[in-house]
Amino acid sequence: MTAALEPVAPGPASVLARRPAWVVVDHDAIADNVHELVRMVAPAAVCAVVKADAYGHGAVEVARTALAAGASWLAVAMAGEAAVLRAAGLTAPILVLGEPSPAEWDDAVALDLRVTLHHLAAVTGVGAAAVAAGRRTSVHLKVDTGMHRIGAAPADAVALADAVAAHPGLVLEGVWTHCPVADEPGNPFTEEQTGRFDAVVGSLRSAGHDPALVHAANSAAALEHPALRHDLARCGISVYGLDPSPALRGRLPLRPALTLAAAITNVAVVPAGDAVSYGLRRPCPVDTVVATVPLGYADGVPRRLAEVGGEVLVAGARRPFAGTITMDQLLVDCGPAGSPAADATATGDEVVLLGRQGAAVVEVAEWAERLGTITYEITCGISPRVPRRHVGRDR
Ligand SMILES: *Cc1c(COP(=O)(O)O)cnc(C)c1O
Repeated sequence: MTAALEPVAPGPASVLARRPAWVVVDHDAIADNVHELVRMVAPAAVCAVVKADAYGHGAVEVARTALAAGASWLAVAMAGEAAVLRAAGLTAPILVLGEPSPAEWDDAVALDLRVTLHHLAAVTGVGAAAVAAGRRTSVHLKVDTGMHRIGAAPADAVALADAVAAHPGLVLEGVWTHCPVADEPGNPFTEEQTGRFDAVVGSLRSAGHDPALVHAANSAAALEHPALRHDLARCGISVYGLDPSPALRGRLPLRPALTLAAAITNVAVVPAGDAVSYGLRRPCPVDTVVATVPLGYADGVPRRLAEVGGEVLVAGARRPFAGTITMDQLLVDCGPAGSPAADATATGDEVVLLGRQGAAVVEVAEWAERLGTITYEITCGISPRVPRRHVGRDR
């Protein structure tokens, strides 16, 4: 028996996906990057850091690809991000990089997360939650060796480890630290921290603790400081094919995974002397072909990019913005009317904001440099309303 077909209202995700603006995530690039990292840090394991929706790339999809390519751990910033991965059926170990707040203790236990702890109150709180749930939760003790963001003082590490080890609901699985200047080659502070961390690990061992996983490396440290790789390298930015800093450019043959593009929605010839967009700031010196692109600052294209020389790719060539970037749309100067390239511009043509088009490329690092920020902030800033298209491996 067949049920009568009822018209179904389209869901928000599918409607959004038809928007003529998109992020393409290349999973061949992600897999290749993970292969490079796995090879480089061996015998240490790779923990793929997929916080902030995998730096804007899509956490569930990236996690699957990274695990298939040889990463054995995942890391996120908070329990809620881990819940998304578990709901998608991912069973790999997930490290939470911050201490869960009391409201998150039960979730952290129920989701079987590897929790970072550094306060005694959280040790007893998570321990009690684990006992109440009839489980044992694996703990990674965070030690502050000089970044001064979170973590126990080195002098308190043994007492905390004792408390974890003595708790019936907890297992001391890891000890870790984080390095604030590993992306600056030659900065002696990282060597200083290496010494401090090694001393902490030594004092834990002397006190009878033997955590299975000692870890201290983010991408930069994994690339630049082999002594910090230990058992696990927590790699984020490198998984996405971006260098941790300009100074570490090209250390590994990484390939950027993300493209940000859209289709032109309007083409107009703006007469000489007229200006476009809010503020009517820059009059066109000659009759100019201006294309409208359905992406704006609410999508993660910073408004300031137009003021600092940002360019986009149209028909394989770099073109400047034609005026102020607005919330949902931006305008591109496609050249003087009458020039063959400008006159060929048509509604529906692809405009690439980040990534390749033909032989031309705009790198995330270029935006970061123009805007005085880091690549991380750019990709994390591409908002959820830009649909992600996942291409490559097994797709
Ligand atoms: C975000 C984060 C990482 C990953 O850093 P990348 O520079 O992206 O590799 C590693 N460790 C901690 C503690 C982090 O917060």
